[in-house]
Amino acid sequence: MGVVPDLVSNLAGTLSDVVADWRALRPLDLVFPRRCVACGLGEELVCAACRAGLRRLDGALCARCGAPTAWPVARCRECAGRRLSFASARAAVAYEGPARPLVAGWKERGVRPLAREFAGLVAEVVPRPAVEELSFVPGDPDRSLKRGQNAAEALARELAARWQLPVAALLERREPGRPQRGLSREERRRNVRGSLAVVAPPPKHVALVDDVYTTGATASAAATELRRAGARSVHVVTFARTVRR
Ligand SMILES: [Zn+2]
Ligand SMILES: [Zn+2]
Repeated sequence: MGVVPDLVSNLAGTLSDVVADWRALRPLDLVFPRRCVACGLGEELVCAACRAGLRRLDGALCARCGAPTAWPVARCRECAGRRLSFASARAAVAYEGPARPLVAGWKERGVRPLAREFAGLVAEVVPRPAVEELSFVPGDPDRSLKRGQNAAEALARELAARWQLPVAALLERREPGRPQRGLSREERRRNVRGSLAVVAPPPKHVALVDDVYTTGATASAAATELRRAGARSVHVVTFARTVRR
């Protein structure tokens, strides 16, 4: 979907409201709609109610995969026994409630200023990783062209500014992987592996930024490649994370 139909569908109101909003449009408004991306109300990208509805993952965590736990653990039920190539994964919020429509708006409709909002949340919740450089999970070439921007890269660049770290494109997708949606964990792992290639030498310690941590398959596959290319440790940082019940 293009910007214009998205914008129109966002404008909750009568036709006259739509016309009035169109007259008031400046080019910036096309990428900066003045409605909450999650609920369609208010005048901010993320309204106060939706912001309050985000579940921050700032309590006890699994040290490895970042899943929220009753008390701090080294490995949790979710990641115990799994081969994970990254040293740690951390996310700012649970991928539930308003986080879902926010991420959808960010990824599908390319609401760029959301990257800045999300980086702010990540920096509030996730401690700055002890790394020399930030990188990001590359988007599918076709899809990121259509959306104008890769969400993970945009988040990495905003975080790099906040954490005063350099950001480098270390990975590239060599062939368009099948969409991950609807695949089993094992299928996701195989689908991702082989499609990511290291294109620049990584530092010893690197943080890998992505939008959402779902099973960890993508992050682990990317970390495997970075470690093969010489990285000693890879720390994953995402905006949101699927939380199992
Ligand atoms: Zn809202
Ligand atoms: Zn875990």
